[in-house]
Amino acid sequence: MQSRADGGSDVRFNFGFVIVAIVMIAILTATPARAQRDFSGVEVETVEVAAGVHMLSAAGGNIGVSTGEDGIFLVDDQYAMLTEKIVAALARIQAGPVRFVLNTHWHGDHTGGNENLGQAGALLVAHDNVRTRLSVEQFIEAYGARVPASPPDALPVVTFNDTVTFHFNGTEIHAFHVGPGHTDGDSVVHFREANVIHTGDLYWSGMYPFIDTSSGGSMSGVIDAVDRILLLANAETKIIPGHGSLSNTGELRAYRAMLATIRDRIYAMIDAGKTVEEVLEAAPTADFDEAWGGGFLPPERWIPIVYTNLKRASE
Ligand SMILES: [Zn+2]
Repeated sequence: MQSRADGGSDVRFNFGFVIVAIVMIAILTATPARAQRDFSGVEVETVEVAAGVHMLSAAGGNIGVSTGEDGIFLVDDQYAMLTEKIVAALARIQAGPVRFVLNTHWHGDHTGGNENLGQAGALLVAHDNVRTRLSVEQFIEAYGARVPASPPDALPVVTFNDTVTFHFNGTEIHAFHVGPGHTDGDSVVHFREANVIHTGDLYWSGMYPFIDTSSGGSMSGVIDAVDRILLLANAETKIIPGHGSLSNTGELRAYRAMLATIRDRIYAMIDAGKTVEEVLEAAPTADFDEAWGGGFLPPERWIPIVYTNLKRASE
């Protein structure tokens, strides 16, 4: 987290502004093909994470990519309007079609390319709850946002309730459900031989995470999920977060410690009968805000989400 702590405040502001704009689009539009946002200026950034594994970043959740003799495997696919650019970026890594897309959860900034890639021949795979939520209108309470059902071709074709392993490109790509976490349909994806883990939105590198409690998400569930991820990780593991820069085990540990500390502080305030206004006044995240509060959710937006979730959990 050194780089963020060292960054100038203007840099942090711009970064946060961009992320807010991006995620609001994600949340307010279930079918990003219908979004009016102009993606023409968005560039796809490609990072080689390990042999045969890349991370693509553009305007939604980070994409994990496996390439090799069997073809291209994607974890998440951002927005429909970016499919062409994503496919062009993939072609610079390896020729050939996308064979599989695994969605880490249902949010539109991770599933928006499903319809395009599915129609082009990719097999769409996700946890059962991803298909269930994409199939019908959703309501995201934290934003008062209604998200319409996705078109049939955007729905995962293969769903699983616990784990699934792809024997692909001479490696094992193991996905497992954790939950409740960011939503009730989160999968973590472990590229075993490459020692790379894609966390989906259970982990936001350098940012307080959005926890979608109206999709079954839970603050304590996110912490439990991170503990499961850490059991698989060692000092060399590369961590692809749902949002933010490519990360590592040490940074994920710091994130876990931050979440647990803030959870315990807010729980204690709830036990003492404090209202959300009183908790905001007490600034329980103050010592973490410099490192974590400059992203999508500044503390004044994040604390009420955490408070509401923990208050319900304590009732
Ligand atoms: Zn999400």
